Amino acid sequence: MSRIAIVTGGTRGIGEAISVALKDQGFTVAANYAGNDEKAKAFTDRTGIAAFKWDVGDHEACLAGCAEVAEQLGEVDAVVNNAGITRDGTLHRMSYDDWHEVMRVNLGGCFNMAKACFPGMRERQWGRIVNIGSINGQAGQYGQVNYAAAKSGIHGFTKALAQEGAKFGVTVNAIAPGYIDTDMVAAVPEPVLEKIVAKIPVGRLGQAEEIARGVAFLCSENAAFVTGSTMSINGGQHMY
Ligand code: NDP
Repeated sequence: MSRIAIVTGGTRGIGEAISVALKDQGFTVAANYAGNDEKAKAFTDRTGIAAFKWDVGDHEACLAGCAEVAEQLGEVDAVVNNAGITRDGTLHRMSYDDWHEVMRVNLGGCFNMAKACFPGMRERQWGRIVNIGSINGQAGQYGQVNYAAAKSGIHGFTKALAQEGAKFGVTVNAIAPGYIDTDMVAAVPEPVLEKIVAKIPVGRLGQAEEIARGVAFLCSENAAFVTGSTMSINGGQHMY
């Protein structure tokens, strides 16, 4: 029987590449999404991977969504917390709602998904949780106090939960992507993007598949001794 994985925000961008990589590795994948039904349907038609709609920032919705996945596909062995949003603006322009929404979805989503799936992994003595952070959570970024704080929080969350899961065979890791060629980055104005690419030593944006390969490794049997770590995949843009 194949293992079951949920990828949040798994129907497009980096999430789509992760869903496909985990499927190729033998997982039965459930791809979660927030509301873009059209993209989700096209994704399922393209990949044969089932899509499930719920808001990862909503605690009850996560519990119900994960229970539905377990009922339809089987108990959840791996969770990739990939869903994320931006609401950029300098602090003096940023509203409380912009702050709160990014914290609710990007960081709250990790807590909600772990609450839903970690207890079962612990009981069955096997689990994989991979949280998608960001280079901007490591280094900070002008106009992103909300996003940088939430992503930085993900890295702390990862190390704390890794300590709780270690003796139960549940590994918890993070990946901090640099700038990847997706809809999220397409929203960055061209002149700003040019300046960003100029600072990437390999001289280009990353591809979603380059993040997905890291996730696939962390979800594999081969990564059993890797926990509490953050894998930076950023073309050399931030090294430490
Ligand atoms: P996209 O904007 O391309 O896709 C976001 C996905 O998340 C969509 O599937 C979307 O669903 C889903 N989503 C958004 N909000 C919610 C929610 N509340 N509940 C459930 N699903 C939700 O993002 P990327 O692929 O660019 O980014 C993926 C992750 O990688 C994010 O966490 C992002 O912060 C991180 N990252 C991205 C970088 C980049 O350069 N692109 C760099 C560093 C980190 P729907 O389709 O329904 O809207």
